[in-house]
Amino acid sequence: EAVLYVVATPIGNLADMTPRAIEVLQSVSLIAAEDTRHSARLMAHFNIKTPMISVHDHNERQRIDKILQLLGQGDSLALISDAGTPLISDPGFVLVRAVREAGYRVLPVPGCSALVAALCVAGLPSDRFIFEGFLPAKSGSRRQVLEALACEPRTLVFYESPHRILASLEDMLICFGADRFVVLARELTKTFETVEGRPLGELLEWVRSDANQQKGEFVVLVQGAPAPGGDAFDPEALRVLDLLLEELP
Ligand code: SAM
Repeated sequence: EAVLYVVATPIGNLADMTPRAIEVLQSVSLIAAEDTRHSARLMAHFNIKTPMISVHDHNERQRIDKILQLLGQGDSLALISDAGTPLISDPGFVLVRAVREAGYRVLPVPGCSALVAALCVAGLPSDRFIFEGFLPAKSGSRRQVLEALACEPRTLVFYESPHRILASLEDMLICFGADRFVVLARELTKTFETVEGRPLGELLEWVRSDANQQKGEFVVLVQGAPAPGGDAFDPEALRVLDLLLEELP
């Protein structure tokens, strides 16, 4: 049976590649990769000789016909991205939808994602969270998005790149305030892996004062907004409520 496998690859440390990912990539007829030159290194490291074609945001639609044709011949394929799990702030959604609609099986080969890796070490509530991916590049639209999230009670998770990390933290300070607790997860599973959590005002100063902390790949996790009126009921309101309850028949 022809299958499209959606295969996760490491986010830095190659030892995080799963045995099943290697096996599947070796066994399929073709690997659809975001950037074939980038992935060539991974393939060489794990001795995977399967041919690759590129599937990125700009050619995803054209590639679909070719991929459906191969599946039609009974060939299985794999989709990978440059790092982590495909479709998580990476291309693949249009392809996966088309393959499912054509009636073929799409199976996950799960593994790393920077989102989950960061969330499980941040020490922020993780029972519910929202993933916002990358913020807009322009400050105006970025602030609009952040303002709309200012009262969100769930943990917020963002992806960020080194050239925008400072600007994004600055806009977060304006929209969320200096006291909001924020965790910065940088270079996860890599040599300069750092996870630092502080109130936003302090965190921003810490990043500003150390150029090394502005390098690499980032996940920014923001504690959700406190419930309106604080965690507990106002004692004065409770006293008045007691008095009123005494008056009830
Ligand atoms: N598909 C990937 C995943 O599952 O995590 C994400 C791809 S997205 C194009 C790249 C972004 O993911 C980076 O800009 C950064 O925000 C985050 N990221 C990827 N690897 C990371 C790492 N090792 N440490 C921290 N963040 C990382």
